[in-house]
Amino acid sequence: MNFNIATIPGDGIGPDIVEQTILVLDKIGEKYGHRFNFTEVLAGGVAIDKTGEPLPQETIDICKKSDAVLLGAVGGPKWDNLPGDKRPEKALLGLRGELGLFANLRPALLHKPLKDACPLKAEIIGDSLDILVVRELTGGIYFGERGRRTGKYGEEAYDTETYSVKEVERIARVGFEAAMKRNKKVTSVDKANILESSRLWRAVVEEVAKDYPQVELNHMYVDNAAMQLIRNPKQFDVIVTSNMFGDILSDEASMLTGSIGMLPSASLAEGSFGLYEPIHGSAPDIAGQNKANPIATILSAAMMLRYSFGLEEEAQAIENAVTKVLEQGYRTGDIMSEGMKLVGTKEIGQLIINEL
Ligand code: NAD
Repeated sequence: MNFNIATIPGDGIGPDIVEQTILVLDKIGEKYGHRFNFTEVLAGGVAIDKTGEPLPQETIDICKKSDAVLLGAVGGPKWDNLPGDKRPEKALLGLRGELGLFANLRPALLHKPLKDACPLKAEIIGDSLDILVVRELTGGIYFGERGRRTGKYGEEAYDTETYSVKEVERIARVGFEAAMKRNKKVTSVDKANILESSRLWRAVVEEVAKDYPQVELNHMYVDNAAMQLIRNPKQFDVIVTSNMFGDILSDEASMLTGSIGMLPSASLAEGSFGLYEPIHGSAPDIAGQNKANPIATILSAAMMLRYSFGLEEEAQAIENAVTKVLEQGYRTGDIMSEGMKLVGTKEIGQLIINEL
């Protein structure tokens, strides 16, 4: 099959990690008979330097015409003093809005060979950990009505949590569909004991659940979910939640794996389109030094194969190759530990390709 991928290397280590990911995808194409056509576009600081804008219109147009987008990272100290709407990070919000990316998928996967990086006790995590947080990305309190006014105690500010049936339904479906490809368990996180928007959320999720009788659904209040992620994280398979709760819980869940350079993410639109990127930033301190860990980006490409292209076998091939390289003791600096073999960005990329 033929797939068009827009690539946005961006800033800092972005070009280093995207380069290795393209090589991995090329190898997958060669092995399984697919053709991946890459079109590189500008966003972030490098786009500001070349065009004056963090997200040029040409980038938006090419992304929209592609089947999926692969992003490295944007931002860095060079652009830190620009005004808010001219900063590189503005490109990320712009892409979410322009591409209609309403669902953010963040797996928190603790690889067995890296389990010492988990801050929890061994008896809590066992051999590994595998949780998928599905966060609603374009609704809720971050996008609701807000303002300032005079209230009972003088000046006050307000933000509003609003969710429509449609918004909850489509994110719930993403969660159930993902659970069908995993361990068939969904935990919907809300605050239905207090918030009206959460009561609607819960009712809609229950309706959607009727279409997925094989999936076990349970509801959890967000305060309890924050506690349970530490107390007994193995009870979770897929967590589906609102924009703000997901913002917080996905960071908490990723900390359980202890390694920022390992974690991929997907942001999905309706249909099969998605943007795939590592959860870490542009790491300007190690940019261009062959020190960055490309695995989060390579695993993001595996998510692209799974969620946008429906290539499950190919996705698993990448994930297995990464596990094998870790089992052989190869590590980039960020995940290095005693007795392991230190390698650079290019070397670990090549080792993963060799395993394919
Ligand atoms: P960061 O994630 O870039 O770096 C934090 C620390 O982790 C650094 O020490 C860095 O060297 C290390 N690190 C991160 N990714 C790594 C990798 N793949 N391999 C090895 N080490 C890695 O976060 P920061 O320092 O807070 O931010 C740096 C810049 O990135 C800022 O301009 C910030 O705005 C931007 N940022 C961008 C995104 C994005 O593009 N999605 C996300 C977060 C931060």
